[in-house]
Amino acid sequence: MNKASCSLKQQHWYFSSCGSKETSGQPYRPTETGQHGLRGEVMNIGLMDIDSHNFPSIPLMKLSAWHKKQGDHVERYSEFCEYDRVYKSKVFSFSDDYQYAINAKEVIQGGSGYCIKNVDDIEIYNKLLDINLPYEIEHIYPDYSLYPELTKDTAYGRLTLGCPRQCSFCHTGVKDGLVSRKVACVSEFWDGQKNIVLIDQNILACRDWKELLTQLKETKANVKFDGGLDIRLMTNEKAQLIKQIKQQNMYFAWDRYQDKEMILPKFKLFKEITGFKERKLIVYVLTNYDTTFEQDVERVEILREMGYWAYVMVYNKYLLPKGHEILKLQRWVNNRFIFSKCKTFKEYKNLDNSNVSIRLLGI
Ligand code: SF4
Repeated sequence: MNKASCSLKQQHWYFSSCGSKETSGQPYRPTETGQHGLRGEVMNIGLMDIDSHNFPSIPLMKLSAWHKKQGDHVERYSEFCEYDRVYKSKVFSFSDDYQYAINAKEVIQGGSGYCIKNVDDIEIYNKLLDINLPYEIEHIYPDYSLYPELTKDTAYGRLTLGCPRQCSFCHTGVKDGLVSRKVACVSEFWDGQKNIVLIDQNILACRDWKELLTQLKETKANVKFDGGLDIRLMTNEKAQLIKQIKQQNMYFAWDRYQDKEMILPKFKLFKEITGFKERKLIVYVLTNYDTTFEQDVERVEILREMGYWAYVMVYNKYLLPKGHEILKLQRWVNNRFIFSKCKTFKEYKNLDNSNVSIRLLGI
């Protein structure tokens, strides 16, 4: 289950070849020749994380681990060095690519950012550009030393792939299939770290959910389901097991207003079984997509009443004019201090129009 506006947060990582001389137009298959180097020699590998966001690139960590296993020299790309091969990784389609010449015999690029194009404010996903990492790289223990700060006592990975939902703003179904299936055990990327960050899209839709949640429980690590959990699939049994997994925050989404009748009992059930506090339960609320403003406010208010923290996501936010009601709603809801002081949107708007009041609140 991805968060609302999940295209902003997707962590799908596949590599395809780009227009280098050696690989142009051909899928990346490093083991087809039986050699990892151009002539079976030790290679000098450079790694580029194009987005440089606050999240480690899992494919780059896996590629690093695999190349190091072959005896290759691996490092972050430096413009002052020469490389046999450079890997570029990009998650977001809107991130600017590296603009300068790359000093390498071969360049391989991959990630969602290279497969999704924005055409007239609509994202178009091109499956042909999306090639999986080879099995032996996909399933290797990541080289966490590539991101020493971000991975401090923290493991990153996914246990499942795919999602049966077909949310119209999300590419997951086309990219990864409409069945959530198990692709790894936690031991594949976890080795005793205190924290585990998961990027699964919909782990609760996987038929092996019980085995996987049990694995997570047994790690006793602090688990973060970064892609969120699909509350619509919550059951008594799942909630009981999730309760036993150590977690700081939990993430859900209520994107479609029309899910109201079905989703509210699920939120209620989960709260009753786990007893988790409001501050721990975060629900992404998608706006500016197919709901009215009244429906946005209603979802936020219902969630507050039920003991969940709403977090407003704005679809195509950059298209909204300054001062738009949705932007005000987002400011009100997403600032926990303001949200706890102002109980209704109307109250917040009155304060927002009065600098004196805002100052009195210390906002
Ligand atoms: S299709 Fe699945 S992963 Fe994508 S937003 Fe919907 S529930 Fe989340």
